[in-house]
Amino acid sequence: MTFTNPFNKQGDPERILELNRESYQKLMNIEINEPKDYDINSIRPPEDISKYVHANATILALVRNSEARQIASTIRQFEASFNSKFMYPYTFINDSPFSERFKAKVKEVSNAPMNFITIPRDLWARPSSIDAKKAEEAMKILTEKSVAYANKLSYHNMCRFYSGTFYNIPELLKFKYYWRIEPQVKFFTDIKYDVFKYLEGTQKVYGFTLSLYDIEDSVTTLWPETIKFLNSDDNYKYINPNGAFQWLLENQQNPKKAEIAGGYSTCHFWSNFEIGDMDFFRGEAYTNWFKHLDSTGKFYYERWGDAPVHSIGLGLFADKSKIHWFRDIGYEHDPYLNCPNSKNVARCKTGLFSRWDHLQDQNCMASWVDYSMADPAKIY
Ligand code: GDP
Ligand code: MN
Repeated sequence: MTFTNPFNKQGDPERILELNRESYQKLMNIEINEPKDYDINSIRPPEDISKYVHANATILALVRNSEARQIASTIRQFEASFNSKFMYPYTFINDSPFSERFKAKVKEVSNAPMNFITIPRDLWARPSSIDAKKAEEAMKILTEKSVAYANKLSYHNMCRFYSGTFYNIPELLKFKYYWRIEPQVKFFTDIKYDVFKYLEGTQKVYGFTLSLYDIEDSVTTLWPETIKFLNSDDNYKYINPNGAFQWLLENQQNPKKAEIAGGYSTCHFWSNFEIGDMDFFRGEAYTNWFKHLDSTGKFYYERWGDAPVHSIGLGLFADKSKIHWFRDIGYEHDPYLNCPNSKNVARCKTGLFSRWDHLQDQNCMASWVDYSMADPAKIY
């Protein structure tokens, strides 16, 4: 099966969308099982969990006390899908201390070790260098442009935190891998292999399930600022020659987005699900780039999300063959889904990307498949 390069696709955005939807459907309808690029039988669930040698990894959830019920719902599914077989420890993080009620609630749904961490203020709060008045002005303007959460300071803090500081929480420093989960998401696959050991064994740095376009008005200068960074000193040396450049720059399906975002497609890995190697983010390239982004103040003067920031960082500084689409993991965070055709998947309609028709054009997966991913048949 061959996939055409969207840069070579002919037609207006509507036609391109139609072609991309077709190739996405075609791919999602192919029956898959588990990844083929690793000896999966070597990373099966242990018979005796007490003797299991884990990868250096934790399940990570940033969550508020008020979301105890919603995160418990996620964990119930997550345990059934994966973690009851492997018992990786949870790290719950919060900008305010976790309540006893919260702790009791999540302990009800899993026997895995749990750690409850209050995030140090300097990793979370708006830096004092930010001009509060200017930030408020920006919040108003972005809210008028219907940028989601633009008027919530906590959301800006959250985006900056997940973009560039979470992996430096003292209690996380000892871990290499994390799997981020969020309240009220769904897992549909019975996962019968250790995904952390899969990343470790293949030396992949990042795994995702969904790739979407972003709200262009939230990231108007994220790409131009990135170019500025790359053009200063000798920072271009950080660029990985096998980066996912085309995916970052595709402008056919939603050309207006790329235009408003200064050339960036706005395609990103949806970060409510991510399985990653924190050492990538802790590395020199990502760290220096994040420092530059942070110095612009635009986590507050715009509303840069952690998803586009992670994605541009990965697209530029990682080898794209080390970024893995966990196509086998059925997943939903409203309003989007990853639903593979697999016998290990239940309660999920094959190939359904969204229950809403008007959101179909938000799918950026065809672009990833067409030119930033290795031959899909070799991976699944
Ligand atoms: P959305 O998925 O972009 O709509 O945003 P969410 O509301 O789901 O927030 C993303 C994640 O960050 C979720 O896990 C939230 O629980 C968490 N989160 C967002 N803001 C805060 C906050 O102010 N404090 C804490 N503790 N968690 C937050
Ligand atoms: Mn969410």
